[in-house]
Amino acid sequence: MAKKYEGLAVGIDLGTTYSCVAVWQEEHQRAEIIHNDQGNRTTPSCVAFTDKQRLIGDAAKNQAASNPTNTVFDAKRLIGRKYSDSLVKNDIMLWPFKVVPGEDDKPMVAVKHKGQEKHLCAEEISSMILTKMRDIAEKYLDAPVNNAVITVPAYFTDSQRKATKDAGAIAGLNVMRIINEPTAAAIAYGLDKLAGCKEERNILIFDLGGGTFDVSVLKVKDKVFEVKATAGNTHLGGQDFDHRMVNYLVQEFKKKNKMDISRNSKALRRLKIACERAKRTLSFAFDAAIELDALYQGIDFYSSISRAKFEELNMELFKECMEIVNHCLYDADMEVSDIHDVVLVGGSSRIPKVQQLLQEFFRGKHLCKSINPDEAVAYGAAVQAALLSEDIKVAPELVLMDVIPLSLGIGLVGDRMHVVIPRNSTIPARRTRGYTTKQNQTSVAINVYEGERTRTSDNNLLGWFSLSGLPGESRYNPIYVCFDIDADGILNVSAWEETNGCRNEINITTNNDRERLSAKEIQRLIEEAEKYKVEDAEFFEKAEAIHALDRYVEKMENAVKDKGMVSKLCHLDMEEICSAIAKARNLLKGDNQQREADEFKNCLKEVKGIFKPIKAKTIFLSSLLVKC
Ligand code: ADP
Ligand code: MG
Repeated sequence: MAKKYEGLAVGIDLGTTYSCVAVWQEEHQRAEIIHNDQGNRTTPSCVAFTDKQRLIGDAAKNQAASNPTNTVFDAKRLIGRKYSDSLVKNDIMLWPFKVVPGEDDKPMVAVKHKGQEKHLCAEEISSMILTKMRDIAEKYLDAPVNNAVITVPAYFTDSQRKATKDAGAIAGLNVMRIINEPTAAAIAYGLDKLAGCKEERNILIFDLGGGTFDVSVLKVKDKVFEVKATAGNTHLGGQDFDHRMVNYLVQEFKKKNKMDISRNSKALRRLKIACERAKRTLSFAFDAAIELDALYQGIDFYSSISRAKFEELNMELFKECMEIVNHCLYDADMEVSDIHDVVLVGGSSRIPKVQQLLQEFFRGKHLCKSINPDEAVAYGAAVQAALLSEDIKVAPELVLMDVIPLSLGIGLVGDRMHVVIPRNSTIPARRTRGYTTKQNQTSVAINVYEGERTRTSDNNLLGWFSLSGLPGESRYNPIYVCFDIDADGILNVSAWEETNGCRNEINITTNNDRERLSAKEIQRLIEEAEKYKVEDAEFFEKAEAIHALDRYVEKMENAVKDKGMVSKLCHLDMEEICSAIAKARNLLKGDNQQREADEFKNCLKEVKGIFKPIKAKTIFLSSLLVKC
């Protein structure tokens, strides 16, 4: 029986490009997607830094074109990865913001915030987005939200899952569970469509988002979800379609104007935004216009792109999606005809050509589009959050079974990978394997890997530890290694030996020291996040105080200008009023950065003190005039 949590719990789809938060509504027995402060149901996974403040979500995305180097997106592509990872290196070349190597080869985003260079890890950036999602939920629910289920792509490795959990912790969230995005979508789908369904159904979830592509085959029977296989590409999605369009239009600009804009980050960013918009248009129209005034060196760029051209540019990527679907079916040991439902998830699954290719692949089968593709994942996460909560009733009760996406094993002598838990095994899982040491060996290194290759050097080293104190005099020492994966897909490896009844046991959480943030580091980042929160609050307080003073002074100025009514009556106060206006204007004009909110508040109090009695007289006078 899973542990139950107390207090409000939400489901968060922490997407590469967009995030979404949902909460279970007990009285309606359905999840509700929560609007953000802009009224949008999804929020850009984007954080920006300026010389004045930090912005998250729509506000960050909206100013991206004018502040490209300090607007950070795609943090999910970095999370749990190394700087030297070739995927990271390729991404860095495409991003307008700077990424530098940090300690232990950790990629760090370098931004300028309030005039100072800051280095932030992906967990910190993601925690800021999670904080925003939490705020959105708290405003709507009008109560503190501490618990959350967060989703990750099915192909996320152990270290990426852990790093996502860390991001939640930095945001002050109690991460109840990390679940796979396609599984979450299946829960949403299952609840809507399959409640009470007794016969077995095989569902294929096709999730094509902004940055990642995931395919999962799930078996649903009697309210139990079992993931049979997963496949995907962590670098395939809407952004890649945008990039191809951008490259095409950069060439067009070059041809037309004999100028290369490919090195101008601001022009590129503006072009990218226009391309994304055009791409969305092409999902329902056959042509889309690109209109960018003064794109580069004052030159306007007016062009258009047809749906056919867009499809031609991206056909290779669309076909790759279908190959991955095929691969997933193969892994699930299923034929096309074994799939009962094909479910579309992710914003890019709206692209007509993608839908057409998928439908053809499934021999004309009807595709399920009834769930809003942008929201299904958060919906499912909210259901899971409710299931893990104390006192929240969810009918029907669901049991969720997941699988590991990559095989897990240890390295043997001669660079050999020995699989302990094969990929696509249902989790939670626990397997123990016996090994023997070499002659006279008193200690042994246990290297833990994930991957499908036979040589460990081709796989991903998750962590290692050594088991020492072995009775070396014995010819062969039998040792045992146990792999234990919990429901979050997080691995614990232990090893021991039992010769002559003695027993050594070591437990590790893989990457404990190396890839995952230490408890101390998380604590430091939590404090840092608190500091940001305080800074944000201070900024808003100051901005509000400035705005209030500015509006009041403007009113005073208008009153003074108003036919000299005030001056005629109260000429004795005029000098004082004018000097108060001048003083306030001076304060407002100056460099506000260094000033405290209180200075503006006090100034407002001061001018109100001077202006109030006169205003009262004016009102008195006007009421007299009305009476006459
Ligand atoms: P992620 O989960 O990776 O953050 P989403 O599922 O939110 O992504 O999908 C975002 C992607 O979907 C973006 O690349 C966006 O441009 C694309 N998208 C959204 N709506 C449409 C549409 N109508 N047509 C084509 N692409 C779309
Ligand atoms: Mg998504």
